[in-house]
Amino acid sequence: MPPTSRPALRIIACAALLSSCAATVKTAELALIDTERDLRERKDEAPTSSPSHPPILFLPFDGVNRDLLYDMLRKGELPKLTDLLSGEGKKFPHAYFDEHLVSTMPSSTMAAWTTTMTGVPPAEHGVAGNEFFIREDGRLAAPAPVSFNDSKPTIEIYTDGYMNSLVKVPTVYERMRKREPNILIWVALHQLYSGADRMLFATSTVLAKALEEGLVEAADFATLQGEKPDRRKFAMLDEDVVEKVKDALEDEDDPVPDILTVYLTGTDLYAHVAEEGPDDARRAYLREVADPAIGILASQLRERDALKDRWVVVTSDHGHTPVRHDTKHALWTEGKDSPPGLMKKAGYRPRPFQMKVDDDVTFDAVLCEGGATAYVYLADRSTCTDPKLACDWKKPPRYEEDVLPLAEAFFKNNADGKLAPRLKGTIDLILTRRPKPYQEVDLPFEVYIGDGKTMPMGAFLQQHPHPTYIATEARLRDLAAGVRGERAGDIMLLAHNGDREIPDERYYFASKYRSWHGSPSRQDSEIPLIIANQRFTADEIRAQVTPLLGAAPRQQKVADVLLGLRAARRQ
Ligand SMILES: [Zn+2]
Repeated sequence: MPPTSRPALRIIACAALLSSCAATVKTAELALIDTERDLRERKDEAPTSSPSHPPILFLPFDGVNRDLLYDMLRKGELPKLTDLLSGEGKKFPHAYFDEHLVSTMPSSTMAAWTTTMTGVPPAEHGVAGNEFFIREDGRLAAPAPVSFNDSKPTIEIYTDGYMNSLVKVPTVYERMRKREPNILIWVALHQLYSGADRMLFATSTVLAKALEEGLVEAADFATLQGEKPDRRKFAMLDEDVVEKVKDALEDEDDPVPDILTVYLTGTDLYAHVAEEGPDDARRAYLREVADPAIGILASQLRERDALKDRWVVVTSDHGHTPVRHDTKHALWTEGKDSPPGLMKKAGYRPRPFQMKVDDDVTFDAVLCEGGATAYVYLADRSTCTDPKLACDWKKPPRYEEDVLPLAEAFFKNNADGKLAPRLKGTIDLILTRRPKPYQEVDLPFEVYIGDGKTMPMGAFLQQHPHPTYIATEARLRDLAAGVRGERAGDIMLLAHNGDREIPDERYYFASKYRSWHGSPSRQDSEIPLIIANQRFTADEIRAQVTPLLGAAPRQQKVADVLLGLRAARRQ
């Protein structure tokens, strides 16, 4: 198949969206983007696919927690997805529904999907969150900026493989290709696609994604006018990506891919801003937008006779927790009372909140935000006592002189609010550990308890039970204790959020939203995993996949399931 791109039609479609968004600069930039990228060339004589192993349709849904999805399926509210899973009414004789999978910490998109698609935790793959600091390069990585608005890095995920370049371990696709050099892999819109043959995205999807912040602002504006945020703009993301995959599958000259990944993202984006709250918003969205889109995808696959022994694997990255849409609860980066405001008062110089800073801008601290959590990275301040000099970020900070004073400042302020009154009582846990050089395996986080003292996480949680938090110690170890564990910061802050029953008592590190995630709570962390194949009974599937998942599976196990299913011979 010759490398081609088929951009024409979609660009016209997105022009309409853009005129309403009035983002002319981005339009010009993005109109040049192909809607499809061939990532690798296949030699003319090479087989076009690898049909001796069972094919897989992988459906990652963004921001859908387990209870919500399973409840809707069991109530028969998602008929097209039910069909795809070979369900009959409320019964699923050919599907295994896992009841134990928990997301990464933080329960957030970039860390979670990287974990799913590599099979190793953040402390190994290095993507600690939607934004994080790479000390050895002295640079920020922000595939989905939270502490500032900038759509460019998100666009670059699709145009330049930005996420691919941040991940330092092989993906599931690369591991499959090592076993089967001719495997044909298509990935639609998912952020990580190293090892795939083809990345598919509709131009309008990328445009809308790029304009996500614009959409959110538009949603705010609509709310001020007494209108609801316009869900159609979010729906277009998913409808377009499915349409794009459908178009690609229509070409009878191309084999249907052995592995087809189709990422649906609108559920999460809409849940963040929906006035009706994330649960109602996601239910309606899944029913009215995602399910019909899946119907279109499934019927095209049936047309190509490509479903009869194909594994269908459905999962998600995290749940959602309603929060208050106001500056009291949004612990963003603006103002003296903000987290960086506190850091300045404590004598630190935070890095400006933007993707790139000029060489002459120096800083000795970096704050990265991510909803329920935030990371603080500190320099060895003895390397930059003169504020005109850049700190040596390759060195770890000194525990007593650089880390503990700031941990103490956050701790004290949380009790008395003297440095930053607005932040008083907003933090649940302040975590820290003795820093190690970045090349070494990092220690797990401990809980800072004041006066320069810390307590191991397990012992602390025993003394101070957090009944809504699950697998906290294990997941924070996955995040922090490894060769790239320093990317979770020298200090990690967990806001009161997933530990609180009501939105009025929940805080989040981001600009104003109506829902966020990231905490270790059940609500944010319990994710679905459905594995279906119409050639097998539910019990037979259970017998195949439970040894791969183990007893208390965390998100990295999904990769083992995908590899395991694909390893079998096709019957
Ligand atoms: Zn989200």
